[in-house]
Amino acid sequence: MKLLMMGPPGAGKGTQAKKIVDEYQLANISTGEMFRDSYRKKESLGLLAMEFIRDGHLVSDEITIEIVRRRLFANHVEKNFLLDGFPRTIAQAEALEEMLDVTGSKLDAVIQIVVSDAVILNRMVGRRSCSICGATYHIDYKPPHQDGVCDSCGGVLYQREDDKHESVKNRLDIYKEKTKPLIDYYESRGILFEVNGEKSFDAVYQAIKALLDERL
Ligand code: AMP
Repeated sequence: MKLLMMGPPGAGKGTQAKKIVDEYQLANISTGEMFRDSYRKKESLGLLAMEFIRDGHLVSDEITIEIVRRRLFANHVEKNFLLDGFPRTIAQAEALEEMLDVTGSKLDAVIQIVVSDAVILNRMVGRRSCSICGATYHIDYKPPHQDGVCDSCGGVLYQREDDKHESVKNRLDIYKEKTKPLIDYYESRGILFEVNGEKSFDAVYQAIKALLDERL
């Protein structure tokens, strides 16, 4: 099963993705996580990518495509995966199609999580992330047991630079300009499925699960 999770920043892609990969035994390929991980390890790629990420800009197609190519074809060719946050541009989508073509495969489904701008701003500005394991919280809707401390690993929680108000607005504009065209791209291929992302986490998860169980 080869899936792609799409939606504006803050639509809940990452949190849903983690549960889906557990349920369906898929490799979770999140370009945002890969960039942050590389930055934490002080690798040159991560340091370079963070320059873009910090301002809410997209990392260049060249760097992004290369990091995904390496991940998909590292030791063995990944057969079952869920892509979270990639592709984000038509150029990336075309590169992905070419990569999969080489292995004679293609994406099975693209799940588009639909959420309004107002809901997104509210969600993202209150988001806090663990500096060690990457777990996410929300100051109102999903607070940690102890203020500023990760429930899972005890790491310090922080607000990602790209979760600050100006940066979120910037990311929403970029999403509309660069990533929304992908909706038509995948719709024309007959593999796009929409889910209402404004419901509770469980309701959204159940909707995605029902869709996958019915179609795949
Ligand atoms: P995410 O965790 O998916 O929200 O990604 C965080 C940030 O990483 C984004 O705002 C971008 O700056 C960068 N990023 C992640 N995936 C991509 C991508 N496919 N293309 C370009 N930049 C990306």
